[in-house]
Amino acid sequence: MTLRHPAPTDEVVELCRDLLRIDSTNTGDTRTSAGERAAAEYVAGKLAEVGVEPTILETEPGRTNVVARIPGADPGRDALLVHGHLDVVPADPDEWSVHPFSGEVHDGYVWGRGAIDMKDFDAMTLAVVRDWQRTGVRPPRDIVLAFTADEEAGSDLGAHFLVERHPELFEGCTEAVGEVGGFSYTVNDNLRLYLVETAEKGIEWLRLHARGRPGHGSMIHDDNAVTALAEAVSRVGRHRFPLVVTPTVRAFLEEVSAALGIELDPDDPETAIAKLGPIANIIGATVRHTANPTRLEAGYKDNVIPGRATATIDCRTLPGDADEFLAQLREVIGPDLEIEHIQRQPALETTFDGALVDAMAAALRAEDPGARAVPYMLSGGTDAKAFTRLGIRCFGFAPLRLPADLNFSALFHGIDERVPVDGLQFGVRVLDRFLRAS
Ligand SMILES: [Zn+2]
Repeated sequence: MTLRHPAPTDEVVELCRDLLRIDSTNTGDTRTSAGERAAAEYVAGKLAEVGVEPTILETEPGRTNVVARIPGADPGRDALLVHGHLDVVPADPDEWSVHPFSGEVHDGYVWGRGAIDMKDFDAMTLAVVRDWQRTGVRPPRDIVLAFTADEEAGSDLGAHFLVERHPELFEGCTEAVGEVGGFSYTVNDNLRLYLVETAEKGIEWLRLHARGRPGHGSMIHDDNAVTALAEAVSRVGRHRFPLVVTPTVRAFLEEVSAALGIELDPDDPETAIAKLGPIANIIGATVRHTANPTRLEAGYKDNVIPGRATATIDCRTLPGDADEFLAQLREVIGPDLEIEHIQRQPALETTFDGALVDAMAAALRAEDPGARAVPYMLSGGTDAKAFTRLGIRCFGFAPLRLPADLNFSALFHGIDERVPVDGLQFGVRVLDRFLRAS
């Protein structure tokens, strides 16, 4: 009898289903979160089983990270980091057509919270590494694997902790791949653009504090904190920051306009962006700073004018001068309100060139002759924000071929999140080729 190993393209589906069945909900508060420990133990077990020694690092109870290093053929070369987070955002089973933690497979998809964000890529990485370990494949250079906690709440208990407290685990890493990139956008039967993330907007979460004179709700009152706050919040919410086309967005728009035959006016890229369909809401947010009011708090009694009122503004900044953005925002808010910084993470941008980018494009083309890799900027944030602090050049490259009619961006944190089975298998083949050539 010969023992036969499962093909990585088969195993990836089982690995993904197993991970989806593990509830690793992150609410932003460890007391109400399911935590990542069970998922981390699963990953560590799958690595140890094939001879990769994982390091397990826990920050708060149940908030667990896994890091491992696979030695490369040339120890003199810089290392490559491959990272994926293990946590997921909450899911309400009443809203879903399957249970969000069932890992069901039907209609050609694996269903579950985390199916595209991002247990799919965690499973692909495991499938490739397990296959290599079983068949004696050595990567050309060291590969560091990081499976992180807490990405969905800013990564303080995950990637930022690892970078601050255990930088030695990433020694020699100069480049990294993780979410959110490498997915396809179908132009026609013969052309699919694969969006590789080379830039990420920055995060500025601000709390505005308005102060006034407390008083009785029945009287004339000209120093009302609620009124002052509401006026400033309305101005911010309706404000449009000036158009700025960064090198990444310019490259993306040139590629996509040429592919689609859309006229691109450099002074009005938004007309071209509006024609992109479902990805327009991602790309549209990358030509300006944005500032969205998200929370309001004031008052404690219906007939009492409170002395203070606060609002939270979720700002996303373009690469460049964040202080210049804050000066623009101050103009909109006016001089009277106090601005408190509650979260600040700078934007990232790298160039779309070099051997690693060539390896991505070649791996995609080998599995999809109609593939064309293009750079783009993500309007949100990922663990790349943490790893870039170590001087690592970060890319979003979690390859996935998607059906033309799938509204991919709506599945992120969305209801009925699911990943195509053949997309997962495509991802494994591309990742295998890419890592062998990187
Ligand atoms: Zn994610």
